[in-house]
Amino acid sequence: MKIMKFGGTSVGKPERMHQVAQLITKDSDAKIVVLSALSGTTNALVAISDAIAGGDREAAKRKIDELEAHYRKFIPDLVIKEDARAKAGAIVTEHFEFLNIILRISFSEALNKDILAQGELMSTKLFSVYLEEQGIDHLLLPALEFMSIDGNEEPNLPAISNKLAQLLKQHSNKKMFITQGYICRNARGEVDNLKRGGSDYTASLIAAAANATVCEIWTDIDGMHNNDPRIVNKTLPIEQLSFDEAAELAYFGAKILHPTCIWPAQLNNVPVKLLNTMQPEAKGTTIQEEAGTVGVKAVAAKDGIIAIKIKSSRMLLAYGFLRKVFEVFEKYKTPIDMITTSEVAVSVTIDTDAHLDHIIKELEPFGHVEVEKEQSIVSIVGNEIAQTPDVLKRLFDTLSTIPVTMVSYGGSAHNISLLVPSEHRTKTLQLLNAGIFGL
Ligand code: ADP
Ligand code: ASP
Ligand code: MG
Repeated sequence: MKIMKFGGTSVGKPERMHQVAQLITKDSDAKIVVLSALSGTTNALVAISDAIAGGDREAAKRKIDELEAHYRKFIPDLVIKEDARAKAGAIVTEHFEFLNIILRISFSEALNKDILAQGELMSTKLFSVYLEEQGIDHLLLPALEFMSIDGNEEPNLPAISNKLAQLLKQHSNKKMFITQGYICRNARGEVDNLKRGGSDYTASLIAAAANATVCEIWTDIDGMHNNDPRIVNKTLPIEQLSFDEAAELAYFGAKILHPTCIWPAQLNNVPVKLLNTMQPEAKGTTIQEEAGTVGVKAVAAKDGIIAIKIKSSRMLLAYGFLRKVFEVFEKYKTPIDMITTSEVAVSVTIDTDAHLDHIIKELEPFGHVEVEKEQSIVSIVGNEIAQTPDVLKRLFDTLSTIPVTMVSYGGSAHNISLLVPSEHRTKTLQLLNAGIFGL
């Protein structure tokens, strides 16, 4: 069984969907195909939901109508036969009727999740109509019947594996399954999702659950590049990454992968391939146990970081102090990304301000608390990087003009992380591209 996931751009136009159909029928291997929503759809659904939450139903209605018009235009280029067009039309009608009904219901978080789910539901159903028109045998497998998260909003892999195995057994005569990325059910049985960019996570979870031979992530670029191509001009694809390296890059900002999508594949040792739908012959990136080469492979940046410094000359050296500090973050389910300590202070970074006020209030009894917002973590990732001679010297020579405010080195063998004010993030990535990669 192999898994093939196609992102928003890969299904964003009718001709792209046609190309996806070609890619999934190139061989006769059994496969589960995971689709995202059409590019732009989830952003539009977020805007609709925000407008409803803010009480601006007129704006919401306008946005719903605009999105509906986009789907109506999509259909005639996707399918030709009258009955297929009618079927596709009925799918669009059903989902937009639902969105229009929601306009009249009072807003809740559960409703928000229902709204956000419409994109993947529509893309997979429309794609299925196209496959049917082409006479391509397949089965639409509803993700809401097997993809689930637990009370801590973490994927429930044993439950997912069980349900998926049952479904696949029920349809053992089929070789091609199409399912939705991103969406799932939560512990209360409601529709939920795996957070933005979550279709990669769906693919990797299914790969682990089905013990797949490979998890292919098809996107709009030829693999993981050495630097962020949205920010830096000259970047190059990386042929091979270890699971650990890829996990660090994803977590620290390489948008090509969902932040936590590597662990399920790594758990069952399923190789992940990053491939380009628009250039299928390109090598792409293979992610597997072995790193291939030693040394710096890539850099990435994660924005929206908040640095918190707790200064206390009296208490810091006392044992138990750090535990008390960490307990505050644990209480508010807020993960810490970076940490440094000195004799008089401890600094940590977090990537959400959801509970910031409470966290500060509860830290204040321990000492003087300083908060710096709008920071970015820049991570330099590569196998055995901490042991690579000269890497720190080259790094600091390269960044001599950047006000680096924190450094994390040695915590993992494949990552050096720096904290810089976000206004210096672009310059930092550009300097590293020249200084570390010679590009
Ligand atoms: P999809 O819709 O297929 O999931 P995404 O937009 O989520 O695609 O991810 C692909 C994008 O990730 C690329 O178009 C690129 O702009 C961005 N990206 C950021 N950092 C990197 C990187 N290091 N290597 C490759 N792509 C990156
Ligand atoms: N459609 C969702 C999003 O835009 C999930 C994904 O594309 O991975 O975030
Ligand atoms: Mg993505």
